[in-house]
Amino acid sequence: MSVAHPESKSLEILRRVFGYDAFRPLQQQVIDRVAAGRNALVLMPTGGGKSLCYQVPALIHEGVGIVVSPLIALMHDQVRALRQLGVEAAYINSSLSMADARDAEQAMVDGRLKLVYVAPERLVTPRFLDLLSRTNVALFAIDEAHCVSQWGHDFRPEYQQLAFLADRFPDVPRIALTATADQRTRLDILDNLGLARDDLFIGGFDRPNIRYTVVAKNNGRKQLLDFIKREHYGDSGIVYCMSRNGVERTAEYLADAGLNAMPYHAGLDASVRNETQRRFLHEEGLVIVATIAFGMGIDKPDVRFVAHLDVPRSIEAYYQETGRAGRDGLPADAWMTYGYADAIKLRQLMQRSEANEQQKRLEHLKLNDLLGYCETTRCRRQVLLAYFGDDHEPCNNCDTCLHPVESFDGTVAAQKALSCVYRTGQVYGAGYLADVLLGTSDDRIERQGHDQLSTFGIGTEFKRPQWLSVFRQLVAAGHLAVDLDHGSLRLTQEAAPVLKGDEKVNFRKDPKPAKSQRTGSSDKAKTQLTDPQHLELFDALREKRRSLAREHDLPPYMIFHDATLIEMARHRPTTEEMLANINGVGRRKLEKFGPAFLEVLNAASPNQSS
Ligand code: ADP
Ligand code: ZN
Repeated sequence: MSVAHPESKSLEILRRVFGYDAFRPLQQQVIDRVAAGRNALVLMPTGGGKSLCYQVPALIHEGVGIVVSPLIALMHDQVRALRQLGVEAAYINSSLSMADARDAEQAMVDGRLKLVYVAPERLVTPRFLDLLSRTNVALFAIDEAHCVSQWGHDFRPEYQQLAFLADRFPDVPRIALTATADQRTRLDILDNLGLARDDLFIGGFDRPNIRYTVVAKNNGRKQLLDFIKREHYGDSGIVYCMSRNGVERTAEYLADAGLNAMPYHAGLDASVRNETQRRFLHEEGLVIVATIAFGMGIDKPDVRFVAHLDVPRSIEAYYQETGRAGRDGLPADAWMTYGYADAIKLRQLMQRSEANEQQKRLEHLKLNDLLGYCETTRCRRQVLLAYFGDDHEPCNNCDTCLHPVESFDGTVAAQKALSCVYRTGQVYGAGYLADVLLGTSDDRIERQGHDQLSTFGIGTEFKRPQWLSVFRQLVAAGHLAVDLDHGSLRLTQEAAPVLKGDEKVNFRKDPKPAKSQRTGSSDKAKTQLTDPQHLELFDALREKRRSLAREHDLPPYMIFHDATLIEMARHRPTTEEMLANINGVGRRKLEKFGPAFLEVLNAASPNQSS
């Protein structure tokens, strides 16, 4: 194969080292640019394939690629995966002994490494800069580049010091990468890293293999359990909760129900957290219930679902968290239960935080966008992508597309609800108000004399859950505000036009919980295979992978992804040449693991050969 052109050179590396056939759309452009010595800021969704954008140019070029990464776990993961591919890679961070760090540094200076991962605070030390001045640096890659911006949701001051790279190493290309950056964050990154406007490459934000679902919360944990049992029994997944307490109780609940579930939050001992994370990577079918402390820095490609038991703070945060599902491109779920009590709790937290008023205001606005997403009757994907500035057709892979939500003219219902709030003195929560509307006579209502109100019993056209849904939607739409301490509702300015009849209101009808038609195994990877012979072979391949993973102390996916095993089961390669043609089988893995898998493939009862 000719390797004269950088283009064919990059393709050759993609095939030989990574075992993939073709670049994804933006990868080739970025790689060409960086390989030609120019800079880039790459915006691609999680799982979009950002790593190759700097790994391939580093392999094309002489010299060492320096990768700035904020998290030790992420560095370890990447380096291990690269070594499996036969790439000389190392990290230099505080987890190394002094002697090991010195060895790695020397290897870097000597040019014996192709990729070196460091934390930003180490990179900027005089000592490390001195090492770099003696190293042939191929490129700087700045991962999680949104950390540079105060506007972004994960600001890290040490990232701002990276500005000096442009001055100090003017001839070394810089490539910044992130999965989340709204307009303003993008500009911050460009400015701070000395990049130009035309260095920006924006990949589509869409993650077509993720199915988005939001359900109204009534018994969150039970709904979650039903969802997992119905759709993801035996799959790896992450469940996010807002509080540590919520994490503990949910993990216990799932474990009691027979799932392999474990808690993870910042209150647990570091050693416990590390062990949990290690198990999540190494085992199949583990469910981690976590606060948001979990997941950043985890590149596990076969996370089949991400569930939110409480609402996240913003669409950006939600998109990043859900993006951890299905990096391998196979079907995955982003599932959330939403009730407005969550939103209240979240607003309380925001209100009590140390942030200044302007920042708080911004946080509330971001939460409003998220609530709008929860209540939408449109395609969820359309709403998400519109938030990032992308247009999209209805996707047919979200709950509102698959089970269109009915909406109804709720003007009269809204008027009843709002005037009930008003007449009871704007000091009650939704449950009480619903009872008044329904004309439920209980002690509390009678004691207050609310059974004498004109709004008592005027809402019998709905059942209680529907009224709760009405109140929830009035809060989400801003007609009602919630007292953060008591959960009581009061009217906002926006309520007046509705009460006067000047404004119409539309509500969504909360759909009944979906009953799945699927029966038998709900292992999502398997649903890719329909032929029973393929399925059987897939199981055998997985079993082989499991034992190899144990033997080499590797996460199974670092041997081969599910997608690769699925392709093997379908095409049943029987020689090394055939196996090399399977997506995800590079040269090094072919040498190392090929024979073991060929044994399984050849032992499988052969089809009547053609
Ligand atoms: P990101 O860093 O953008 O979240 P990764 O770089 O981890 O994404 O890539 C996500 C997954 O997609 C990885 O498992 C990677 O091996 C795979 N991948 C990346 N590029 C390609 C490609 N051109 N063909 C096939 N798989 C790819
Ligand atoms: Zn849709």
